[in-house]
Amino acid sequence: MSKKVIIVGAGIGGLATAVRLLSRGYDVTIYEKERNLGGKVNVLESKGFKFDLTASILMNPETYKEVFAYANRNYKDYLEFIKLDPFYTVNYYDKTIYNLSTDMVNLSSSLQSVSPKDFHEYIDFLSESYRKYIIADKYFLNRSFNNAFQFFNPITLKKALSLKTFSNTYSYVSKYIQNEKIRQFICFQAMYIGVSPFEGPNIYTLIPTVSQIYGLWHLKGGMYSYIEALEKLINELGGVIKKNCDVKEIITFKNKAIAVKTHNGIDKGDLVVCNVDYPYAVKYLIKDKSLIKNDIRKISSMDYSCSNFIIYLGLDKKYDELSVHNQYIGVNFKRNIEDPFKGKIPKSPSLYIYCPSRIDDTVAPRGKECLNVMVRVPNLFYKNIKWNETTIKSLRKKVFNALTNIKGLEDIKQHIIYENYLTPVEIKKFFNSYGGAAYSFSSNLNQTNYFRPHIKSEKIRNLYFVGQSVHPGPGVSIVLLSSKLVSQEILKNH
Ligand SMILES: Cc1cc2nc3c(=O)[nH]c(=O)nc-3n(C[C@H](O)[C@H](O)[C@H](O)COP(=O)(O)OP(=O)(O)OC[C@H]3O[C@@H](n4cnc5c(N)ncnc54)[C@H](O)[C@@H]3O)c2cc1C
Repeated sequence: MSKKVIIVGAGIGGLATAVRLLSRGYDVTIYEKERNLGGKVNVLESKGFKFDLTASILMNPETYKEVFAYANRNYKDYLEFIKLDPFYTVNYYDKTIYNLSTDMVNLSSSLQSVSPKDFHEYIDFLSESYRKYIIADKYFLNRSFNNAFQFFNPITLKKALSLKTFSNTYSYVSKYIQNEKIRQFICFQAMYIGVSPFEGPNIYTLIPTVSQIYGLWHLKGGMYSYIEALEKLINELGGVIKKNCDVKEIITFKNKAIAVKTHNGIDKGDLVVCNVDYPYAVKYLIKDKSLIKNDIRKISSMDYSCSNFIIYLGLDKKYDELSVHNQYIGVNFKRNIEDPFKGKIPKSPSLYIYCPSRIDDTVAPRGKECLNVMVRVPNLFYKNIKWNETTIKSLRKKVFNALTNIKGLEDIKQHIIYENYLTPVEIKKFFNSYGGAAYSFSSNLNQTNYFRPHIKSEKIRNLYFVGQSVHPGPGVSIVLLSSKLVSQEILKNH
């Protein structure tokens, strides 16, 4: 008889793990507390607009495709990937604009238009950062670190040292690049996983590097079409999905996970895979605290990433100046970027602006545009900020001061026909994200690899974890790797 696996949470990690285990003959039941699957990769639909709720930047499409290949399916039967060019348009407060292309000819002419040396410095930076990415991918992202020896062995330690990650992102980038504007473009991307580029280790330059070298992609219909594709595949493979079904407890007996408890009763399984944010699960879902004393201590001493504020705008005209992915780099970049990590809402925020309707007519009505405007803000552990109407109004004003400073967007306020917001409070409420931190634990050096919670519980047998709060960390493509690691571990042990 097949082993029964219960997956708690249908975020990207839970869904991809379900596909992998179903395709290897396990019997899988997924419990999701919300009406929609996908967790943070979700959708907001209104007035003909289809907004990706949070994630929008699709890096490393191969990791997305690999889940389908693993289940012997052709991803093309489920998804349509579109390569973006330019992959970023960057607007600066002084009206400078860069269009960044993955095509070398276009890239060189864009960067050389400012200064010829900018192009070769950028290439030098990419070359060194790509070397580090290759090492990180082979020795760290694609490996589990469930015990100390897997990390503290001569080969891994040597590789870790060769990454030279100790200086912060900004200093590292500055070693290669003189142009402050290009530095800011790179640093802004490196902070996508919620770590300050002025403090966090320079390894996250792999984000701008991979984006430049492999390109950024768009899924027709938006990111949520990936969730719909996974749901379809899970149904085809015979998985059971229970929506609107909040798991209240992961039941243990004699140091072993044996069942989950929901409002419908108790469901027994051979294995439990928890896709819920690790600190939330440890604090609220595992009731026998004697088993997880160390984890309880650990989650209260760890650092958490910042959070996000997003404005969703439906606009009644097209804005040809925008690309799908845009940055707006505001004045006093350093101070404003550091503010969320010091418990302050930035005065002149830099913005990430996502406009998928530039190339995808399925996400907005004809002649209209849908926009997500995102600002990094403090997580809810900073108690000084109350996310009430006054705070939202004041931040909205700052965001619009920045938006209307972008060439071509001066009239944007007059063309809004739909507006909505996401604050750290909703991030906490919708996804049970501990402290409203958008990316769970901060990805500092002492909280990654072996030092991040492991995918296999140390004290509770048959309990596994998958998702951004455990190794290897946040970001859709990285969580897809986490699903690969957890499935390998389960196949090995069971
Ligand atoms: C604002 C924002 C922007 C982002 N942008 C990008 C981006 O552009 N590109 C990118 O690659 N990544 C991005 N990310 C990161 C990416 O979205 C996440 O790393 C990834 O989606 C996390 O997936 P996960 O599997 O850890 O689970 P989550 O998405 O956290 O899902 C966990 C699931 O568990 C469910 N759940 C919780 N408690 C229970 C319970 N008790 N019972 C049942 N179900 C429960 C939740 O409802 C949820 O569905 C962004 C994240 C945020 C917040």
